[in-house]
Amino acid sequence: MADAPRHLRTRLAQAGCHPDPQTGALTPPIHLATTFERPPSGDYGDGYVYARWGNPTRDLFETTLADLEADGTEDGAEAAAFASGMAAVMVVLQSLRPGDHVLLPDDVYHGVRSLFRSTFTDWGLTYSEVDQTDLDAVRAALRPETKLVWAETPSNPLLKIVDLEALAGIAHDAGALLLVDGTWTTPLLQRPLLLGADLVLHSATKYLSGHSDVLLGALVARRGLDFFERVRALQKGAGPVADPFGSWLVLRGMRSLGARMPLHGANAQRLAEALQTHPAVEAVHYPGLPDHPGHAVAKRQMDGFGGMLSFQVRGDADAALGVAARTRLFKRATSLGGTESLIEHRASIESQPTPTPQNLLRVSVGLEHADDLVADLTDALDGLPTAR
Ligand code: PLP
Repeated sequence: MADAPRHLRTRLAQAGCHPDPQTGALTPPIHLATTFERPPSGDYGDGYVYARWGNPTRDLFETTLADLEADGTEDGAEAAAFASGMAAVMVVLQSLRPGDHVLLPDDVYHGVRSLFRSTFTDWGLTYSEVDQTDLDAVRAALRPETKLVWAETPSNPLLKIVDLEALAGIAHDAGALLLVDGTWTTPLLQRPLLLGADLVLHSATKYLSGHSDVLLGALVARRGLDFFERVRALQKGAGPVADPFGSWLVLRGMRSLGARMPLHGANAQRLAEALQTHPAVEAVHYPGLPDHPGHAVAKRQMDGFGGMLSFQVRGDADAALGVAARTRLFKRATSLGGTESLIEHRASIESQPTPTPQNLLRVSVGLEHADDLVADLTDALDGLPTAR
C-alpha cells in the first residue's frame, strides 16, 4: 500500500532521514568522495562517476527540496543545488541565449540587478524592471523576446505581493517562463510550482539552513522543463555545485524549519504592529498587516506571512542609520533567515543607483522573545526627534 501523503511539516521534520541499511544511522552521512569505482563491465550505469556530476549528499538535498516544492503536483519536480543562491542565478542567466529579455520586479534582490549590470548585459541579455503588483504594467512590459519573468513575493526589500497565478498566466501567454525567488518563503509558506510557476530559486543560505552558517543555493523546476536540461548541463559541466557538507547542513536546518518559521512569522507580526503605532515611523511593509495592499493575495497564496519586514522612519538616511546604530539586541548585518534578528539600512548596501528608499530599514526577525525585540526597536526609535 502506498504511503499516505504527509503534511509538509512532517516531511520537513524527517528531511533526508532514511535509515542507513548497513548501520541503522538515522541521519544521512556526508559523502566526500570525488570519484567512484567503475564496475568491471566498464559501464557506470546509473551509478555515481565523479563528484561534479553527482554526489549522494547533494542528490539527497536536491530530491528532498524538489519533493517539498512539488507537493501535490502531478508530474513532480527536480532540483539542482549550487554553491550559493547567486550561483543558481548565474546559471539561470547563462541558460538563456543572447538577445533574450528578462522582466524583473522593480525592487528585485539587488544582487540580480547587479549581475545584469556587471556581466550579463555585455553577454547580450536585456532586462527591464516593472512594478509587478500592476498586472497591466506587466503585460505592457513584455516583449516578443521576453523569455523569463522573474518574481519575488514578498519582494526584497519593499515586501510587495504579486498574484503568482495571474503572473504565471501572463508570462505563459507571452511564451515566457515564470521564475519565483522562494528564498523568503521556503516551500513551507509558498509553493510557486503549484501556482503555475516553472522555476523556483532558493538562497538556502537563509531560512532553509536557518543558522547563518552555510552558503548554498538551489533551483527547482517542474519536471520535464526543457530549460532545466540547460541548467543541469551547466551545473554538471561547469561545476558551480553545492558541496557535500553544505548540502548536509541545509538538510539539517530543514528538519527544524517547521518549528522555526511560525515563530519568525509570529515575531514579525508583533513587531510590525508595534512599529505601526510608533510616531517616528512613516510606513511599515509587512503583508501580515490587514492594511498592506497585498494582504488578501498573500493570505490566499501563502501559509503564513514570513519573518521579513521593512519600515521607513520619518527622516532621511541618517535618521534610519541612527535607529540601527541605537539597537542593542538587533545585529547590524546583511542577510536573513537566521535565529538572530538583523537590522539593515538597505539602500547603502545595494548596488547604486537603487530604488530603495533612503529612510528604509529592513529587518530579519529572529527567534528571540517578541517583547525584547519590540522594546529594543522602540527604544532605538524613541531617540529620533520625530518621536517627540
Ligand atoms: N535571493 C534573495 C531574495 C536573497 O536575499 C539572496 C541573498 O541575500 C539571494 C537570492 C542570493 O543568495 P546567496 O547570498 O546565497 O548567493
